[in-house]
Amino acid sequence: MTGWLRIVGLGPGAPGARTPDAEDALNAATDLIGYAPYLERFSPRAGQIRHATDNREELARARHALTLGANGHRAALVSGGDPGVFAMASAVFEALESGPASWRALDITVIPGITAMLAAAAHLGAPLGHDFCAISLSDNLKPWALVLQRLTAAAGAGFVIAVYNPRSRARPDHLREAFTALRKILPPATPVAFAAAITRPDEHVTVTTLEAANPEQADMRTLVLIGSHETRVIARENAPPFLYTPRSTAA
Ligand code: SAH
Repeated sequence: MTGWLRIVGLGPGAPGARTPDAEDALNAATDLIGYAPYLERFSPRAGQIRHATDNREELARARHALTLGANGHRAALVSGGDPGVFAMASAVFEALESGPASWRALDITVIPGITAMLAAAAHLGAPLGHDFCAISLSDNLKPWALVLQRLTAAAGAGFVIAVYNPRSRARPDHLREAFTALRKILPPATPVAFAAAITRPDEHVTVTTLEAANPEQADMRTLVLIGSHETRVIARENAPPFLYTPRSTAA
């Protein structure tokens, strides 16, 4: 049997938000590797082996997936959202670069998924209609000072900012510090959205302003979207507002 490795994006949660290519890779795999809650999102086929892992051991998980593929297994390594956005694909290529030369002959494909910021943006309207960027607030893999520097530079340059990993039990105050830094740069009325568990049964979205935004509202299932001074809110009666950023901008 010829082995392969597919690095599969599962999308934000709902099966309907998963691509047919991702579905095909999951069905064709002999082995599924990933963080346990991601593996729980779909039912295994008979005979498939599940390798549930800890979320922190990214490189070890990547090497394990490469080893399975190199040994003739059809390995699907799964990530939530898109595997290339703050997720496993980079870890695989890092492991590949420093691993045995034989791994480079392996059939490796990245299968994209809908990343959280796109799912959240679609739910809200069109907040990413003009220039935007994505920043992870996790300081597991980079210094916190760099996160703040990038956030303030992006806000100062007029980007809408999609904030991943906004808050966790290990880092309860990061989002508060981020809002404090941003309030020095952006107007108080700048729209801010908290989009939690998008496409999942516990989905919850609120739209507020930078002035009123309460960091306690975010957790690890939340994508925080910070508007630019161009971002607009369309209020509606008995329905949540729409958020959009116009395509055109003043000089
Ligand atoms: N690879 C993933 C991101 C992994 S980082 C992707 O492309 O979406 C994990 C962070 O993604 C979470 O802390 C949260 O900020 C965001 N996230 C993932 N799924 C989400 C969802 N369904 N709704 C809102 N945010 C989500």
